[in-house]
Amino acid sequence: MELLKKRILKDGIVIKNRILKVDSFLNHQMDIELFNEIGKEFKNRFKHKNITKILTIEASGIGIACIAAQHFNNVPVIFAKKYSATNLDKDAYESEVYSFTKEESYKIRVSKKYINSGDRILIIDDFLASGSAALGLIDIIRQAGAEVCGIGIVIEKYFQGGRKMIEECGVYLESLAIIEDMKDNRLIFK
Ligand code: 5GP
Repeated sequence: MELLKKRILKDGIVIKNRILKVDSFLNHQMDIELFNEIGKEFKNRFKHKNITKILTIEASGIGIACIAAQHFNNVPVIFAKKYSATNLDKDAYESEVYSFTKEESYKIRVSKKYINSGDRILIIDDFLASGSAALGLIDIIRQAGAEVCGIGIVIEKYFQGGRKMIEECGVYLESLAIIEDMKDNRLIFK
């Protein structure tokens, strides 16, 4: 997606050839016009999949998923919770995720009420790195007996191997911008 690539090149900051900071339009301040174009592009790429729900993970995926849902007939958006809280149903699907940015493992949870066996689910997230977050979401959908109809990623860091992990699970993946590598704190797009 050309518009997105241009924006990454203009405003993205590379840290230690590993992390891309896009706080000015994606992860802290959110550019809603750009989010809308991202939502349209996801719809284009998954239009024949009869999506009934979108699943994402808190926090950065939520804004993107909500805007994208408007292009999928306003299907419900569910986000996996990272923190256990008294207001989360005890009856929840759980999976383990390793955080690339925080370098620690944590559990994600989705209440069993919100995913049913007939659901056709699109996973949406901001970044794909090692694939751990996406694999956790796939695991939760499969525990519920629902169908993973695809994964839509805004920025994929190809060199961190997530694509291979997802393909090994037999899940269809579309990324709107793919970074092949980072060298001298500069981006090489695929
Ligand atoms: P993975 O589980 O694929 O290793 O990492 C994906 C998650 O880590 C995303 O949900 C995202 O929040 C975070 N993440 C991974 N790499 C980056 C990065 O370069 N920049 C930012 N802002 N987040 C990242």
